[in-house]
Amino acid sequence: MFEAPPHRHLVPFDGSFEISTASTLPASLTAPDADRKASKKANKKRLAELVDRIDELQRVLYADNRHALLLVFQAMDAAGKDSTIRAVMSGVNPAGCQVSSFKVPSTEELEHDYLWRSVRRLPERGRIGVFNRSYYEEVLVVRVHPEYLGGQNLPRDIVPETIWEQRYQSIRDHELHLARNGTVVLKFFLNVSHAEQKRRFLARLDEPHKNWKFSSGDVRERGFWPDYQLAYQKALAATSRSWAPWYSIPADDKPSMRADVAEIIVSALEQLDLRYPQPDPKEQARFDEMRTLLENESPLGG
Ligand code: ATP
Ligand code: MG
Repeated sequence: MFEAPPHRHLVPFDGSFEISTASTLPASLTAPDADRKASKKANKKRLAELVDRIDELQRVLYADNRHALLLVFQAMDAAGKDSTIRAVMSGVNPAGCQVSSFKVPSTEELEHDYLWRSVRRLPERGRIGVFNRSYYEEVLVVRVHPEYLGGQNLPRDIVPETIWEQRYQSIRDHELHLARNGTVVLKFFLNVSHAEQKRRFLARLDEPHKNWKFSSGDVRERGFWPDYQLAYQKALAATSRSWAPWYSIPADDKPSMRADVAEIIVSALEQLDLRYPQPDPKEQARFDEMRTLLENESPLGG
C-alpha cells in the first residue's frame, strides 16, 4: 500500500502536530535580508520543471489505470488554494484531471451522510481528482460553529462531546479504504499567517480587479482565527497517517508554496509502480502483419 513520501512539511503520524510551530514562511525567507526576488525566480523555475514531470507521470498513471490520485486542499481564506491548484495542474491534460469545490452543503447533500457528496466526486483509476475544500470542513468550519450540526438532520443521540473523534475515525477509515483500493490521498494545509491574510484582504478591497474576491463573510470568519487554528491542529494531528498524509505548507510566499506542493505530488507519483501496459504477445505477433497492411494500402480513390 502507498506510504507517504517524506518531506520537511509532512505532518507526523503520532498526533503530535502543533500548529503554533508550523511555519507560514519557508525557512529560506525568514531572515529580514532574504532575497525574495531571487527566491521567486528559483521557485518559478522549480515549479515549471515539476509541472512538466507531473504531466509525464499523469500520462503513465492514466495508461496504467490502477491508481487514482486525490489531492485535498484546505486553508483559511486567501491562503491561495485556487491559484495553487491552477499552477500545479497547469500542465496536466484536462481530460485526466477534475477539480471539485465544496461549499455550504445543499439541501440534497444534507439528505445524506457528510462523505456522500465527495465520494461522488472521487477520481476514477488513472485520473487526478482535486478537492478544493472537502469533507474536512465537517471537522473544521463545523467544529468552529457547532450550531451547524443542528441543520444536519443527524440522529437524536449524537453527542457533541464525542462527535469530532467519531468523525476523525470515519475519515481515517474512509481514507484507508481508498488507499487499499489504489487511490493515493495527499492532503495539503496551506498555512497562511494572520498578518498575511489581513494584507491579502486589504489588497482585495484596494485593488479594483480583486474586489470580486472579497466577501464580508471572510472577515467574519477571520474573527474566529484561534478557533480555526485549534480545529486545524486537532484535525491534522488525528488524520495524518502514512496512507493519507497531511503536509502543512507555508503559504505566505506563493512561489515556494506552489513548488512545494508540486514537489510532493511528484514524489508520491514516482513512488508508485506505474507502467505503460505491454501489449499481450498474441497482439504483438500481429504488429508486423498490421504494419505491412498499412504500408501497402492504396490511397483513397486511387
Ligand atoms: P473562494 O472564496 O476562493 O471562491 P471558497 O472555497 O472560500 O473559495 P466560498 O463560496 O467563499 O468558497 O466559501 C465556501 C464556504 O463553504 C466556506 O466558508 C466553507 O467553510 C463553507 N463550507 C464548506 N463545506 C461546508 C460544510 N460541510 N458545512 C458548512 N460550511 C461549509
Ligand atoms: Mg471564500
